Amino acid sequence: MTVSLDLTAEGARDALRARSASAEKPSLIGLTRAELAEALVASGVVPERQAKMRVQQLWHWMYVRGVSDFAHMFNISKDLRAELDKHFTVARPEIVEEQVSSDGTRKWLFRFPPRGAGRPVEIETVYIPEEGRGTLCISSQVGCTLTCSFCHTGTQKLVRNLTTEEILAQLLTARDRLGDFPDRDTPDGAIVPAEGRKVSNIVMMGMGEPLYNFEAVKKALLIASDGDGLSLSKRRITLSTSGVVPNIARTGTEIGVMLAISLHATNDDLRDLLVPINKKFPLKDLIAACRAYPGLSNARRITFEYVMLKDVNDSLEDAKALVKLLKGIPAKINLIPFNPWPGTNYQCSDWETIEKFADTINNAGYASPIRTPRGRDILAACGQLKSESERMRKVDRLALEAMMIAGHGEA
Ligand code: SAH
Ligand code: SF4
Repeated sequence: MTVSLDLTAEGARDALRARSASAEKPSLIGLTRAELAEALVASGVVPERQAKMRVQQLWHWMYVRGVSDFAHMFNISKDLRAELDKHFTVARPEIVEEQVSSDGTRKWLFRFPPRGAGRPVEIETVYIPEEGRGTLCISSQVGCTLTCSFCHTGTQKLVRNLTTEEILAQLLTARDRLGDFPDRDTPDGAIVPAEGRKVSNIVMMGMGEPLYNFEAVKKALLIASDGDGLSLSKRRITLSTSGVVPNIARTGTEIGVMLAISLHATNDDLRDLLVPINKKFPLKDLIAACRAYPGLSNARRITFEYVMLKDVNDSLEDAKALVKLLKGIPAKINLIPFNPWPGTNYQCSDWETIEKFADTINNAGYASPIRTPRGRDILAACGQLKSESERMRKVDRLALEAMMIAGHGEA
């Protein structure tokens, strides 16, 4: 194949990238055990009678040890490793950028190869270290079809859903970079520490609406919580939705993880403006789905996220309405100071207002932590994620910095 000479440098790079990506081998990451067995047998690499044993071995190397190269799978013969490598890959995506915030938050920009005829895509993943735990905020889509008016991701139209492999790759690559596969190179068996992992929790709160990519998200979370692999407890996995009501019950029964709801308003008129999916699935239906959430109890409460927008939803009447709306639901209310982005008309509520709001809810018996904004200096905070395809222009970055310095949106 020849590359025409009149291509621009950028165009030529894209063409080359697309060509090398189309020659990529299929990944074994993100397949269920049955799919993995099927792929190994269909390729002729593994005879049927060995499939179960090989699946077990590969599962261990991929998800317990976290290796990203067949060459490191010591208990598999050299010949078989070479055959596997000829047909498949367990490699990580390209890391375009890694940024570390002054508060220790890390943000990665990952590039995934095109799927089918598409272009390569880029997404962001954020790691938030805290006392006693570390949370990885994972993306489910490139962009978002929804257009919540206070969310930066919402201004980027949907490019495509991420695959199961791409969702898991965010977790695996973050663990690589954080040194969170501590026993990768110990040949005699792995000892996985139950406590003290750098990534102890994951939240589906990055770019995109996870319940509009249900099947891929479900498979990824079931693999992430598989006890013979990545072993994350389902109680340490939280899926956040803007309110895709038909998939809420399925999240409980089919995935079994903790649920967070991006509520942000207590009446339909305001919620229609802030979270437009409310027009399709109004509050009455959303709250009913929450009350019926499978496995809901005082020990397994729903988190309601509430972004604090100055003079929009932050009055004491709003706080009282919130308490009334959630009455009887085992709930925790997470108050999120609004994180600004260039072009937004919203401002963050004053700190004093947020504290009064929190007190009202607290007095009614709900835990109401105020989410400390993390990683704002690298645009890693909630609602600030956007991918390279729409990377911020320099002038916008400067405008944002000026806004932060002026104190708009600062908690
Ligand atoms: N799409 C899903 C998950 C990703 S957003 C959802 O909407 O739930 C993760 C959380 O960040 C949501 O609660 C979202 O409403 C909130 N968020 C979005 N933009 C924000 C901003 N600019 N400041 C603070 N929180 C924001
Ligand atoms: Fe999409 Fe969530 Fe942002 Fe709304 S808040 S636009 S659902 S990512």
